[in-house]
Amino acid sequence: MRLPLVAFVAFCSAIAVADAPLPVVLAGRVVFRIADPGPYGSLHARLQAIDQQISEAISCEDVGSPKMRVAQRGGLWSVFIGKTFLASVYPGDAKLYGRPAKSVANLWAAELKIAFPLSEPLTRMGSPSKATMLDKPGAAAQARRPVKVPAEHWGIVNTYMMLLWKVRQAGQEAWGEEEPRLTAETLEDAARHYLAPANQAKGHEPGTCPGLRTCADCQAQMAAALMVEDEKRELVSNLAAAMAADERATRAVKQVFEYVRYIDQKRFMSERVRIAWQLWQRLAQRAAEMCQSLAAAQPPTEATP
Ligand SMILES: [Zn+2]
Repeated sequence: MRLPLVAFVAFCSAIAVADAPLPVVLAGRVVFRIADPGPYGSLHARLQAIDQQISEAISCEDVGSPKMRVAQRGGLWSVFIGKTFLASVYPGDAKLYGRPAKSVANLWAAELKIAFPLSEPLTRMGSPSKATMLDKPGAAAQARRPVKVPAEHWGIVNTYMMLLWKVRQAGQEAWGEEEPRLTAETLEDAARHYLAPANQAKGHEPGTCPGLRTCADCQAQMAAALMVEDEKRELVSNLAAAMAADERATRAVKQVFEYVRYIDQKRFMSERVRIAWQLWQRLAQRAAEMCQSLAAAQPPTEATP
């Protein structure tokens, strides 16, 4: 009788240690929480799948004036933005919220509607108070304009485009080793550019250089974007370490890495400037928040977007 008892105990403790709910974060805020792994095997895997859909939406949909929709999908109440599916409400999620699934889906849709415009590149936002006028018509027409990166950030955006290209190139077997290395590099570059003096270096606007790897002007521009004054070196390593330990910063990087490994070459080429610019903006926002808590930090305001 011993074996079945052991199995029974293992079964009970598996129930007892059910995963704690996980937050879904967009534009630096928790938009909703999930408690049910659904068919994904684990809550974490489901969170990754939702992140993937959010990345997809940021690239394909008009997130400036999001058209949220709640509808049934595979028998589950689900949230969409435009044509892009975002997430379904599973029984465990409804239980967490203590309301019917449809009501939870409506709540998630409302939170996402507030957060999506904040995930837009600043250059695409017509007004800083955009989030309060979501239903104003007209914004959709402008949403597909190409991204306009301010000259002082060309260097970091070009650097990130090169880095994301490396992310795409890393083979499946090598990815386990490459991912932490490239993540650390991304965060270190963010810390450097955040603390580097603003400079209007020569070089090509992101997306227009005929050969980033060999273009002397762009190489100089990328180096300048990461050039930190000697007295700030320690601050850079403190900030980089703080960001590496920060869940929101590392998740922003992970989300982008997964997305660029997932899309095809044509799409990568047409979206790489926007993706790199958004990544920088998300990390700069985190850097700004973290610098407030790093006692000695006094970043130059010119270096923030
Ligand atoms: Zn160039």
